[in-house]
Amino acid sequence: MNMKEFLNFINGEYIKNASGKTFDNRNPVDNSLIGKVYEAGRPEVNAAVMAAQAALKGDWGRISVTERCKLLDALAVEINRRFDDFLQAEIADTGKPHHLASHVDIPRGAANFQVFIDTIKSASTESFNMRTPDGKTALSYGVRVPRGVIGVICPWNLPLLLMTWKVGPALACGNTVVVKPSEETPATATLLGEVMNAVGVPKGVYNVVHGFGPDSAGAFLTEHPDVDGITFTGETRTGTAIMKAAAEGIRPVSMELGGKNAAVVFADCDFQVAVDTVTRSCFENAGQVCLGTERVYVERPIFDKFVAALKLKAEAMTPGQPFDAATKIGPVISKEHQAKVLSYYAKAREEGATVVTGGGVPDMPAALKDGCWVQPTIWTGLPETASVITEEVFGPCCHIAPFDSDEEVLGKVNTNRYGLATAIFSQDIGRANRMAQGIRVGLTWINSWFLRDLRTSFGGSKQSGIGREGGLHSFEFYTDLRNVMVKF
Ligand code: NAD
Repeated sequence: MNMKEFLNFINGEYIKNASGKTFDNRNPVDNSLIGKVYEAGRPEVNAAVMAAQAALKGDWGRISVTERCKLLDALAVEINRRFDDFLQAEIADTGKPHHLASHVDIPRGAANFQVFIDTIKSASTESFNMRTPDGKTALSYGVRVPRGVIGVICPWNLPLLLMTWKVGPALACGNTVVVKPSEETPATATLLGEVMNAVGVPKGVYNVVHGFGPDSAGAFLTEHPDVDGITFTGETRTGTAIMKAAAEGIRPVSMELGGKNAAVVFADCDFQVAVDTVTRSCFENAGQVCLGTERVYVERPIFDKFVAALKLKAEAMTPGQPFDAATKIGPVISKEHQAKVLSYYAKAREEGATVVTGGGVPDMPAALKDGCWVQPTIWTGLPETASVITEEVFGPCCHIAPFDSDEEVLGKVNTNRYGLATAIFSQDIGRANRMAQGIRVGLTWINSWFLRDLRTSFGGSKQSGIGREGGLHSFEFYTDLRNVMVKF
């Protein structure tokens, strides 16, 4: 097999590094080596930030919104033209099934450049007229300017999609970016450099530095004094470290963090819709979706029936090769993450869970034995204080508990330090909406999950995040709002 090399992309060029340090990129399906990644040290991160600062003062800083939007559109078109390259790269890095990567990751990854075009073209600012004490007129108006160089720190679960969800609005607003992809998934961010050059995005606007967090590219980037803002998606603990780094120099942050999301299933729901949707929210992408469900609360009259139906669905999640049409679930991202998920499976047993299904590693054919597989798992019978009910596992698993009243379930759903997402299933729209407005999360779905209108806000409450992205909300972070007052 061809060993690939993943280079840093700085000022429009692919660069190795001064230190010669590399790390392995492995395919989680069978743990095979995809290639080596050149870790950026301080000199490379510094070069990337300097290139991004210089680009702000060059052509990029002078072109009109219309010209920027043409480039954004061209980026989406070029990603779609090279759809298969992106698809192969994303699948090799993550092991996710082809149907998922081809329907979600790559098309949404491209669309994220297009969706902000209409928003930025029609974004307005405030303007007020007032009379001054000496009888003259004062007009004050707002102007939005780019924030500057944005540090973009990304996770591995939806690598291209979550990265362009930040880079799209950042570029639409006229910023430049230095992206630090996850060490687990360096490929699509690297490939995007070719697309930037192909469509004529000026050098230095989009840069990529590879590496880890502490004492590596992530920390070097977030600590860099010439980074003007940091947008991060990842674990809450990492978000805390990044906020500390951003405090130096008072740099603004946008944080999309962890979750411990609940689904609330009322007895009057459309049963099939609820079972099908909760199957997806628990097990899609092997449970590695920040919006995914890990706590399910089912109204007592349908509890047993629901547990039985979800068990059947979980057992039908066939693991396998990404390009095999029968494959319903891929591996988790790495050996390290597999060990973390399995440690939670062990903890659930120790804390007294009834294992309805799963709980271990599936029996895989010889060629896939070394992959990072875990079984879709369902538990019942745990108290609300149990580890798998309070902590984010980020694997294909859920605990199901019965409830008897709206107040009881609302209390349980809200008793958690996270506040990212909820899914409610009921045909009583009044009840579902009352519940939705009482749950302290950034995103609630009623009778659906993962359905998004990209013009609306996205983000978490409590320890699930700071700020909102999507539509006009993205501009709060990616621009600096200035006020001009004129007296005449
Ligand atoms: P992670 O926090 O381990 O890593 C995310 C990124 O941060 C990686 O690129 C990593 O190298 C970097 N990093 C780590 N330490 C750093 C430091 N000290 N300074 C700078 N950078 C550092 O998260 P992950 O394991 O890649 O992703 C899974 C997590 O992401 C889950 O908690 C999940 O809920 C969350 N997530 C949230 C959303 C959302 O929208 N809220 C979306 C996807 C994933």
